[in-house]
Amino acid sequence: MRNSKKDPVIRDQRSMKKKRWFEKGIRFSCQRCGDCCRNVSLQEACVYLNGDDIDGASELLHLSRKEFIKKYTVNRYSFTVIRKPEGDCIFFQNKKCCIYKARPMQCRTWPFWEINLIKKNWEQNVKPVCRGIGKGKLYSCEQIVHMSEFQSPL
Ligand code: SF4
Ligand code: SF4
Repeated sequence: MRNSKKDPVIRDQRSMKKKRWFEKGIRFSCQRCGDCCRNVSLQEACVYLNGDDIDGASELLHLSRKEFIKKYTVNRYSFTVIRKPEGDCIFFQNKKCCIYKARPMQCRTWPFWEINLIKKNWEQNVKPVCRGIGKGKLYSCEQIVHMSEFQSPL
């Protein structure tokens, strides 16, 4: 007989049955206001970079990893973080992301981060700061869960 606590199949079946608050999906279309890049509402926000993010952006900018890290990042508690001169992301130029094609995973998956999908966080910290939420494309529950599974370097 299967141990229901330890068996991953049973655990998965149970968690699939558990309804998520965003079961019917969430509409989101970036309005390109740049608020999240300018940190207007998120003064302490940082964009953390993983290895693939660094590879992608340095390749796009025709720089070596070393050059890219030196020019565009700072070390914060042993994590590599994009520089924010005067509070804005260094890549936010002429009102847009100048590395958009190679923007970091953290930016690609906003606002569907695991921590954001806790209902209380969503209502209090996420919805009020992003005017793209509730507009445009409907993301299904499965798509949202998939995006939330990216591994933050944190
Ligand atoms: S705050 Fe939201 S709508 Fe504005 S640029 Fe960022 S993701 Fe797009
Ligand atoms: S990398 Fe691009 S999308 Fe991400 S915060 Fe900076 S400007 Fe915005």
